[in-house]
Amino acid sequence: MEKEALDAIADELYGKLAGVSASVSPCLYDRAACERMAPLVARIRELKRERNATILAHTYTGSEIVAGVADFTGDSYMLSKRASETESDVIVFAAVRFMAETAKLLNPTKRVLLPATDGRCSLADSITAEQVAELRKAHPDHVFVCYINTTAAVKAQCDVCVTSGNVFKVVERIPSDKIFFLPDRLMGQNLRNELAKRGVKKEILTSDGACHVHESYDPELLDFLRMRNPGLKVLSHPECSEEIAERSDVVGSTEQMLRYIAGSCDDRFMLLTECGLAARVQCEYPGKTFVGSCQMCRYMKSNSLEGILRVLENPAPGDEVTVPADVAERALACIRKMFELAEG
Ligand code: SF4
Repeated sequence: MEKEALDAIADELYGKLAGVSASVSPCLYDRAACERMAPLVARIRELKRERNATILAHTYTGSEIVAGVADFTGDSYMLSKRASETESDVIVFAAVRFMAETAKLLNPTKRVLLPATDGRCSLADSITAEQVAELRKAHPDHVFVCYINTTAAVKAQCDVCVTSGNVFKVVERIPSDKIFFLPDRLMGQNLRNELAKRGVKKEILTSDGACHVHESYDPELLDFLRMRNPGLKVLSHPECSEEIAERSDVVGSTEQMLRYIAGSCDDRFMLLTECGLAARVQCEYPGKTFVGSCQMCRYMKSNSLEGILRVLENPAPGDEVTVPADVAERALACIRKMFELAEG
């Protein structure tokens, strides 16, 4: 590619990324770094056209992916919906494996490629389908509700799935007062608290999983930062502990946090979720201040421009996401039940 065209890409990247400090390194996005990234970004854009591919990037991946090559950025639910709307033959899903599996469930005829070098998730990997089958035997009267952050095999063992955006609404609408919620014990506790606030009486049992990012927030640090930052609005994810949730102004999904910031007159926020969201809002709202503390997901950060190039150029068999047909059918029924309860 001509030097002029590469300079234009470097300018474009620097224009978007110059204000980002919540990332892998505070000096990652200086002008020289953007110049180094430009040929990679140019080659990925070219291959994307040649392969008729769409690149979906979770908000928690690196800002260079979001700003440089992603067609859509969002949470796993929003991206899976986007995936089902695209006409492309190939979906490159920069995220973790269970999310790419959900995209594959919703788009069985498309090729779904995962560029992460470590596509695990401490939450999704905390429970297996075999363990859920055992729990079902032990709790035959409970409706099994799984968070979307589970593998397709686990979803296939459950009755209904929920997202962080609709968990309270869906569980409230389930016509049973015995719920087994998995795999996140912290979200399960927040669910108990929220339903109690709404006057809904249900027994909520949970398994013992947690997200290594969201469970690490310290309520005392939050108290300290609030004291140092008068007027601070604290937005937390329901995967955080109940001590964090009760100290927050808003508890919701990343999309709900984005909507809150977009509609708020306040100018100082703290986002208790993975750093990628803070990096994204630093790009989108340069006039607002986003106070640390920022935690990174090592699995989401294993996505890179180099990984995206690799799966577009020459994907290895393990890069392609597949779901066995019998698992896919039952997992899809679990997801469809969520749509029915959430949107009905
Ligand atoms: S942030 Fe937590 S839930 Fe999300 S992929 Fe990372 S470990 Fe899993």
